[in-house]
Amino acid sequence: MRPYDIIRKKRDGHSLTEAEINWLIEGYVAGEIKDYHMVAWAMAVFFRGMERQEVAWLTQAMVNSGDTLDLSAIEGIKVDKHSTGGVGDTTTLILAPLVAAAGVPVAKMSGRGLGHTGGTLDKLESFQGFNVSLRPEEFVDNVNRQKIALAGQTGTIAPADGLLYALRDVTATVDSIPLIASSVMSKKIASGADALVLDVKTGNGAFMAQPQDAFALARTMVDIGEVLGRRTVAVVTAMDRPLGRAVGNALEVKEAIGILRGEIRGELWDLCLELGSRMLVLGGRTQSLTRARMLLEEKLRSGEALNKLKELVTAQGGDAKAVDDLSLLPYAAYQEELKAETEGWLQETYALGIGAAALTLGAGRASKGDKIDLAVGLEIPVRPGERIAKGQTLAILHANDRQRMEEARDQLGTCFVVGQERVMPLPLICGVVDRDSQISHL
Ligand code: URA
Ligand code: CA
Repeated sequence: MRPYDIIRKKRDGHSLTEAEINWLIEGYVAGEIKDYHMVAWAMAVFFRGMERQEVAWLTQAMVNSGDTLDLSAIEGIKVDKHSTGGVGDTTTLILAPLVAAAGVPVAKMSGRGLGHTGGTLDKLESFQGFNVSLRPEEFVDNVNRQKIALAGQTGTIAPADGLLYALRDVTATVDSIPLIASSVMSKKIASGADALVLDVKTGNGAFMAQPQDAFALARTMVDIGEVLGRRTVAVVTAMDRPLGRAVGNALEVKEAIGILRGEIRGELWDLCLELGSRMLVLGGRTQSLTRARMLLEEKLRSGEALNKLKELVTAQGGDAKAVDDLSLLPYAAYQEELKAETEGWLQETYALGIGAAALTLGAGRASKGDKIDLAVGLEIPVRPGERIAKGQTLAILHANDRQRMEEARDQLGTCFVVGQERVMPLPLICGVVDRDSQISHL
């Protein structure tokens, strides 16, 4: 085989064979196939796309390029959740203890954040002493003992994806559905998931701004999962506004605790119920989504979900007293409000801009390895579709640096569109893609 022939075949719109895809990915990771070959191939995929079976082979080849986590020592069906990324998306901190409290094992490998805000690992480090580096045996033991562990990736998961992503990032080939879908799914499958619930975001704060693109990505990922023997369901959800009220690490932890205490409701909780109930069904806990929802509501009401969070924090060396006493979590030195200059309907919130303002405050990483400030961020108490009074608070900034505060405030100035006509935002749940069905609420 020659890279040239594989590139040309894809360029001309033909499907590649499993052997060709394996040869390409193996050769690339081994350093035998050059970056320029891979770039040309990725661009050909960008324009020509891939068949369902082809993307599944690509995904499997990327899984095979590195270590895979063996979770077979954990009893039960391991259901993982993945979000394609949004602003103010704290679902994991709520879902993981909630689902674990309902009896489905949560063995979750999470990442560090890049961009807007931290990842789940960063957020968990808001608890003093929390240790995200568990040895594989500890990880498995913790899940068997208390149904829950959240840790950073160990070993080298899907190195082909890391290499390919770096090339795509600088050659305008990131936004290709088969390449995104195989990238995400390879990491999830290598991390040991038996089944997967995907949260595919759409709207101005999402990778896939247009709903039809988000549905297409969801379909491709569900198909990959099913071809590779993992039950997979995708929920397409709104990201034309921050999901929760908080954007920033410790702020999101406080909001998650508020939800687990039953003190806060709203879209973040609604989405947790939607994703969580699907996790319970895939995890074999019940066959009925309605029953699953009731079970989750019950675990919230009884305080078992909140206790599960404490167990998780304690088991991983963190100070669980902070769950009862939020003053033990990081707080920023300064707080300021951004107020509405006119009255009217909130027509649009620019979620990406809000994320960028949080980044300016220091809540996220501009580049890999940057240090983040856990305390800083934003609270956004308004949602698109709401009536806004003149002088109403649109955002609360939490900062540790006056200069950054001023910069973030300037950025936020363009993030809220108030007008005289009422505009309806996307529904929180835009639709659901399953192996043999697709429902759209748009
Ligand atoms: N996130 C990923 O993990 N991979 C992509 O290709 C795009 C987003
Ligand atoms: Ca996230």
